[in-house]
Amino acid sequence: MHVPLLIIGGGLSGLAAALRFARFIPDVLLLEQHSRIGGLNSYYYRNNRLFETGLHAITNYAAPKVKNAPLNRLLRQLKIKRKELALHQQNQSEIRFPDLESLLFSNDFSLLDSEIESKFPASHQGFHKLLQVIERYDPFKPLPFISTKKILQEHLQDTLLTDMLLCPLMYYGSSIERDMDFGQFVIMFRAIFLEGMFRPGGTIKDLLDLLLKHYTDHGGKIKTKATVKKILHTGKKIHGVLLNDGTEIRCDYILSTIGSEETFTLLDNPSGLETLPRLGFVETIFEIEKSTELKQGHGRTIIFYNTGDHFLYQQPDSFVDFNSGVICMPQNFQDLPESSFKEVRTTHLANYNEWKELLKDKDSYKSAKDDTALTSLLVAEKILGNFAQNIVYRDTFTPLTIERFTAKKNGAIYGNPVKIKDGDIGYDNLYLAGTDQGFLGIIGSMLSGVSIVNQHILPRL
Ligand SMILES: Cc1cc2nc3c(=O)[nH]c(=O)nc-3n(C[C@H](O)[C@H](O)[C@H](O)COP(=O)(O)OP(=O)(O)OC[C@H]3O[C@@H](n4cnc5c(N)ncnc54)[C@H](O)[C@@H]3O)c2cc1C
Repeated sequence: MHVPLLIIGGGLSGLAAALRFARFIPDVLLLEQHSRIGGLNSYYYRNNRLFETGLHAITNYAAPKVKNAPLNRLLRQLKIKRKELALHQQNQSEIRFPDLESLLFSNDFSLLDSEIESKFPASHQGFHKLLQVIERYDPFKPLPFISTKKILQEHLQDTLLTDMLLCPLMYYGSSIERDMDFGQFVIMFRAIFLEGMFRPGGTIKDLLDLLLKHYTDHGGKIKTKATVKKILHTGKKIHGVLLNDGTEIRCDYILSTIGSEETFTLLDNPSGLETLPRLGFVETIFEIEKSTELKQGHGRTIIFYNTGDHFLYQQPDSFVDFNSGVICMPQNFQDLPESSFKEVRTTHLANYNEWKELLKDKDSYKSAKDDTALTSLLVAEKILGNFAQNIVYRDTFTPLTIERFTAKKNGAIYGNPVKIKDGDIGYDNLYLAGTDQGFLGIIGSMLSGVSIVNQHILPRL
């Protein structure tokens, strides 16, 4: 078998790349190791109910008239109509730090601005100067690392405000510890604070099914349960892939969305990339009775919290760091159709190696997962009020769960901290897209897939 383009990985970047390419040349094959597409953002069934693995909220909300907004550009590139998605904007989210210091924000930027004006008056003018820098900055220019903390400290009088602004942006888009590259900060600031958050009407399955339908309608092909074992090449020229079941598929181009080191492993070549700690996370889903009224934080979509003296976004020494985290209530989006359930989802930083060590004894691993869920529940109840008595189902994912289902090294959601922004990893006809190209989250990874196809592959065919 021979195809012009082979895409490795049926996550959101692979699906978007495949659909973009199929619009011009239908002969494209998408290979996914799992039985289900979606990768990090997929779903599973328990108790006859669908649970989403990843979706809290999609960033980069934009009104239809903002033609150049990333969301609208993406929809145009994929020829998907807005009405096919039914977008629901967030209600209101919150950044909550010690002593009940809190900043509210929504898809209307003036809310965050007025919160900063009233709670951090000494920093308000500097915040406006920072906004001008953000507006003018081109985050896609290849530049060496620029420290966001340094720039924020130059503009803002209050270190607490610096930490509060960084908390959501790091949790939703930083693969590196303690600081952020300023380009990535600008991307995330625009995506979360200036544009905002939304979710599609149905579940993530509906979004994945929609992408797949468009793709197969154009003639694109997909093979699930197809694990790529080797990428076949002579020097820098790629010929195809070998699957786990022994099938060989030949191609002109490969787009790999599985990660940089993971791709180099399939090429039997060391990556030569700098080794930095990869960030792990644990996520617990609490399904609660539909009638549950949360006493506090009622109606909030997402609460980003920190309880320590400083916000520390780094790999913890123990299994989990409960000092900070994300609490998401996926039912709290505007005008969502009535659902039969409610959820509280919690996310915290975690240490992959500590979890890996535990796996040597299955009982210890299981009891650490139970302890994680219970501690996370206590943390969430301090913020939301009691809801333990209303929990009907609970599940916890560790970095090992993510590694098992997506083959992502160390189960690191944001992949390798070293990003390859142009997608070129030194081969003639192989490119990288997705998480390790540097665009994170759903919109980021989809735009990454589309832009690599546009820049490197379509012009050469
Ligand atoms: C718990 C959690 C919560 C999240 N919340 C949000 C959120 O609220 N909003 C948001 O925007 N983003 C969120 N994300 C992040 C978002 O899911 C990812 O950034 C995005 O989906 C990454 O897509 P990708 O295609 O780059 O990578 P992946 O999803 O990792 O796709 C890669 C695919 O490659 C497949 N693969 C790997 N190796 C092979 C192989 N050898 N052969 C064949 N196939 C292979 C994998 O199975 C996988 O399907 C969350 C992620 C998680 C895990």
